[in-house]
Amino acid sequence: EENALSVAASVDTGAPTIFDKIIKKEIPSTVVYEDDKVLAFRDISPQAPVHIVLIPKIRDGLTQLSKADERHKDILGHLMYTTGVIAKQEGIEEGYRVVINNGPTACQSVYHLHLHILGGRQLKWPPG
Ligand code: ADP
Repeated sequence: EENALSVAASVDTGAPTIFDKIIKKEIPSTVVYEDDKVLAFRDISPQAPVHIVLIPKIRDGLTQLSKADERHKDILGHLMYTTGVIAKQEGIEEGYRVVINNGPTACQSVYHLHLHILGGRQLKWPPG
């Protein structure tokens, strides 16, 4: 029988992810924001009119939020701050959602920490 775990089989193995290839520009993405520490690009399977994935350029063990350590505090703050910059740039500052899926139970599929920025429509609560 289907349950939350059987639909989200992906687990953290520490293996390289598709986001490494996006960072190296080995596979194409639509970049909307970039600085020395982070990269933001349009989600390939958008769940809202605006759906952006924001990632640290260096993973440094941060495969998922629950692996965060003292040393990650600066990058975590920078990621959170940057969501606001991107939301403004995208014209959704009046209302948007920032999501981090942590682990299989939350349907994380790519094990390189990333923030989803969703907006451009009325969002519902609770999420699925
Ligand atoms: P989920 O796949 O359940 O949303 P995650 O939180 O791990 O879990 O999100 C990974 C996100 O990365 C997904 O929204 C997916 O559509 C997006 N994605 C995967 N590959 C690409 C790609 N090549 N370009 C842009 N977005 C991608």
